[in-house]
Amino acid sequence: MTPPETEVVSCPACNHLLRVPLDLLGQPVQCPECRAMFRAPAPDGTGGMAAAELLSRPPGAAAPGRRADAALLLPAFGLMFCGVAGVGTNGYLAYLFAAEPGVAAEYVRDQFSKARGYGFGADDPEGERDRLDGERAVATARWMRWYFPPAAGAALLAFLGGLSIALGWNYRLAQVGCVTAGLNLTGCCCVPGAAAGLWGLLMLRSGEGRAHFGRSTPV
Ligand SMILES: [Zn+2]
Repeated sequence: MTPPETEVVSCPACNHLLRVPLDLLGQPVQCPECRAMFRAPAPDGTGGMAAAELLSRPPGAAAPGRRADAALLLPAFGLMFCGVAGVGTNGYLAYLFAAEPGVAAEYVRDQFSKARGYGFGADDPEGERDRLDGERAVATARWMRWYFPPAAGAALLAFLGGLSIALGWNYRLAQVGCVTAGLNLTGCCCVPGAAAGLWGLLMLRSGEGRAHFGRSTPV
C-alpha cells in the first residue's frame, strides 16, 4: 500500500508546514498547529502553485501585537497612577515637613496618639505621655522630612516607567519604574504598586514586552 500523495504547504497564519493530500489542494483545510482555516494552494496551471488563502484566523487569537499592548497597558497605567499619587502625597509632605516643622510635628504627634490607642507606649507613665509624645514628634519629624523628597522622586520614576511602557519609549526606564513601584519606594499604594510593578517586570521580560520596545535579544 502506498501512502497518499501529498504536497507540503505552509499555513498562511503561523507558517507551520503541513502535508495536504493532493485531492484537498484548492479546498478549505485547517492548520493543526494554530487551527486557522485556509484554502490550500492549488496548481495554477503554469507549473507553479497559487498562494494559500487565509479564510479565518485561529479562534481566540487577536491580531498580532494587540494582545501584548493590552497586557502591557494595565501595569503601565497602574505605575502611572501610583506615580501620580506618590508624587502628590510625598511632594506635599516634603513641603510640609521642610517649610512647616511645627505643623509637621503636630501631624506626627497625631499619629502617635492614634498609635497609643493600639497599645503603643503603654509603659510610659500616665502623666508623662503628652510631654513624651511632643518630644518624640519633634525628633521624628526632623528625620522624616528627609524621607519624603526621595520618595517623591521614586514616585516620579514609577510614573515615568509607566509612561515609558505605554509609549514603548525606554526599556531601562520602564524596568526601573517597575522595580521602584514593586518595592514600594514611593511610600504609598503598596499593594497595587507591588502588583503593577511585578506584572510590569514580567511583561517586560516576555517576548511581547521585548517586541513592544523593539528588542529581540535577552538582556
Ligand atoms: Zn497555522
